[in-house]
Amino acid sequence: MPEGDTVFRAARTLHRALAGKQVVRFEAVLAQLSRVDDDVPIAGRTVERVRSVGKHLLVELSGDLVLRTHMRMNGSWHVYRHGERWQRPRASMRVVLETADFQVVAFDVLVAEFRTARELARDPALAALGPDVLGAGFDEGEAVRRLRGHGAMGIGDALLDQRALAGIGNVFKSEVCFAERVHPFTPVAALDDETLLRLVRTARRFLEMNVRESSGGGMVTVTGVRRTTRRGDPSASLWVYGRAGKPCRVCGERIVVDRRGPQARSTYFCPRCEASTASRP
Ligand SMILES: [Zn+2]
Repeated sequence: MPEGDTVFRAARTLHRALAGKQVVRFEAVLAQLSRVDDDVPIAGRTVERVRSVGKHLLVELSGDLVLRTHMRMNGSWHVYRHGERWQRPRASMRVVLETADFQVVAFDVLVAEFRTARELARDPALAALGPDVLGAGFDEGEAVRRLRGHGAMGIGDALLDQRALAGIGNVFKSEVCFAERVHPFTPVAALDDETLLRLVRTARRFLEMNVRESSGGGMVTVTGVRRTTRRGDPSASLWVYGRAGKPCRVCGERIVVDRRGPQARSTYFCPRCEASTASRP
């Protein structure tokens, strides 16, 4: 499931491949995109910038047109050289943008639409977003205020709400709560501002760890091992996520997975390390 770090890396990769380049061919299997392409052709436009906002990826084209996509559960963007074999089946292709050098393909994106800059600014999906955890001007105080608005909600679910903070997904939700020793089902109202601030700062630190580039220059891949522990061993890259039944890396207690809550998303935690906040009202 793509989280903010994945979308950020995808946008950076696409920006490097496309920015300043002219689109020589456009193809989409989505009717709402093809209609726009018929009316105001995409080929011939220049890609001005590619960026991420939370989990949204925006391809800004000359002539005031922005392609907004959201990867949802299985979507991804790939960059290929011409003639290179795709790593996903043709049936999963949704959008192709070609320049003289590259073929950029969106697979299985569920949301894809063209917007003018003005429409985008008013788009409810973007206008309602909380501070972007990976954004340049990230406002941690505003993030805390927005979390505070979810008093009765468990902190784990509140961290997932893109209207509070944009960019956190299910993996980082569990990892951030563990790192700060906060039980993910603790109601936000039971946590003080200082604790919320620590959670927000750790979320930003974890996502930043996962968009940092290990080797300078070159093209980076969209996928990669996600990590929060700073351990070199890839199998030890996360504290609790995906580790149900395995020993806690800090205390040895068995990690628990729980699927309660409105969307029944899996939540991983250590019942000992994160116990101190669990029984509060
Ligand atoms: Zn533990």
